[in-house]
Amino acid sequence: MFDVCIIGGGVAGLMLAHSLPSSMRIAILTKNQTTVSNTSLAQGGIAVSLSTFDSPSSHADDTMGATAYHANAKRVDILVNEGKELIEQLMAQGLPFDAKEDGTPNLGLEAAHSSRRILHAGGDQTGHLLMQYLLHKTEDRVTRLPFHSVLECVIQNGSCTGVVVSNSSGQKQVISAKHIVLATGGIGQLYRQTSNSPVATGDGLSLAYHAGAVLEDLEFVQFHPTIFTLNGKSCGLISEAVRGEGAILVNRHGLRIMNDIHPLAELAPRDIVARAIEWHWQKNDPIYLDARHIQHFESKFPSIFLNCMKYGVNPLYDLIPVRSGAHFHMGGIQTNDVGATTIPNLYAIGEVASTGVHGANRLASNSLLEGLVFAARLAKTLAGNNTSIVQRPSFVNGHQIANIDLSNMQQRMTEQVGILRAGDTLQSFVNDYPLRPFRLSDYTSKDIQNIHRYTACSLIARSASLRIESRGGHYRHDFPLASNEWTGKVIECSIHGVAIQTREIESKETVK
Ligand SMILES: Cc1cc2nc3c(=O)[nH]c(=O)nc-3n(C[C@H](O)[C@H](O)[C@H](O)COP(=O)(O)OP(=O)(O)OC[C@H]3O[C@@H](n4cnc5c(N)ncnc54)[C@H](O)[C@@H]3O)c2cc1C
Repeated sequence: MFDVCIIGGGVAGLMLAHSLPSSMRIAILTKNQTTVSNTSLAQGGIAVSLSTFDSPSSHADDTMGATAYHANAKRVDILVNEGKELIEQLMAQGLPFDAKEDGTPNLGLEAAHSSRRILHAGGDQTGHLLMQYLLHKTEDRVTRLPFHSVLECVIQNGSCTGVVVSNSSGQKQVISAKHIVLATGGIGQLYRQTSNSPVATGDGLSLAYHAGAVLEDLEFVQFHPTIFTLNGKSCGLISEAVRGEGAILVNRHGLRIMNDIHPLAELAPRDIVARAIEWHWQKNDPIYLDARHIQHFESKFPSIFLNCMKYGVNPLYDLIPVRSGAHFHMGGIQTNDVGATTIPNLYAIGEVASTGVHGANRLASNSLLEGLVFAARLAKTLAGNNTSIVQRPSFVNGHQIANIDLSNMQQRMTEQVGILRAGDTLQSFVNDYPLRPFRLSDYTSKDIQNIHRYTACSLIARSASLRIESRGGHYRHDFPLASNEWTGKVIECSIHGVAIQTREIESKETVK
């Protein structure tokens, strides 16, 4: 019996383990090796207002703007203020960020940030080095269980008391704990083009859904504009920081594509750049990133440089072919200020959680910060207990899920629930992949992994079909503008049904 069982060993899970008292018995379960996660891949950095020309309130303003004013302003204030304190503490404890010759942090600029505020570690190896730091800090204090895939949350008398896992020998096993924390990361692998690691299959959404928890804002998926793409295959991400350093987007004739679309051109909000690139690709006009004029590219972006070279593209001399793909999920499991879900003893942090700080579109480099801040908050409050009782819903049983064609579902997610959406195609997806709970205990481990993918896709599609407007990462051809009727409206999904609630927002201007 553990005190805390953390599902996921990325920035959120590791930061929680690092911040919990050393007297607690902690397990971290990961479905692959501990180092396989989106955190390991994070290149751009961590946004924090450390410069004397910057402030948390300016960071908050930029965040609210990027989120299409759909974010929860109170949580954004927590993010930027506590985030700054936390980063200063981690720096003082020895987390090695890149510095200038005078020892002050070397802060980079990224799209939609009004100041230089992006901290890097090892150039573009920020996520990898952050993981190494947290793994080192937690190694003596945590039971690590790699290759333990969580299949189901155990709910007894309305509270979460443990998880059913498929362990490293493929056997089903129950792991019990006083507190269960979902830190399972994102959903990118539900789509054909993605920047995400192979473990990002939306399991946490399905686990929470089947446990009876409420999920929200699921329709908001961020598509990264510049995924290095060769012969239709995603080969890695080219960070926004490369455009921040001056790289431009061109077509095969060398014509810049962003100049007529947005005043910030290549540094326009991500969704605008992603849609512009996708629009060209759909017209058979491949798009490239021209970074040939960036000085010292190989030392500024060592991982990107090596990755491009691995595939025979030299960024110093060649154009880099890029396409948009699924990158980050703004919505997720609904949580309160400290990471509690609507199920007692079940918590969510990191990308799988909806803390409300990313609204309809995440501001670049805010997610590692979110993982750190809300993990540290949860660590402080895990002693408290909530005792409300949740009704278990009725489950569907049947064997049709075993035969699901995952590849076809992924293709249809990409085409029908992807960057460019429309009501009729969303509805067709919803009809073919209806949202319903499964009695997970009746299935094999392999079937349950497929059910998790199926459920995550159905949840996202159902939410996207209900939001009749465009906002942030959710873009519909048939309703291309944001609607005031939908301002502040949050779509909540749970096993009990779907509800449209109003979120308190601080709308400083009409959404674009
Ligand atoms: C290429 C790339 C670059 C990025 N760059 C940046 C950046 O520069 N700055 C920034 O702020 N953000 C960036 N992001 C986003 C950021 O990296 C992620 O949002 C963040 O790392 C998510 O952390 P996490 O701890 O929630 O999940 P992850 O780091 O993805 O970890 C998820 C963990 O959950 C485990 N897991 C999942 N399902 C199960 C299951 N069923 N059973 C057991 N374990 C399970 C996995 O094994 C893994 O350990 C980037 C993302 C990508 C993909």
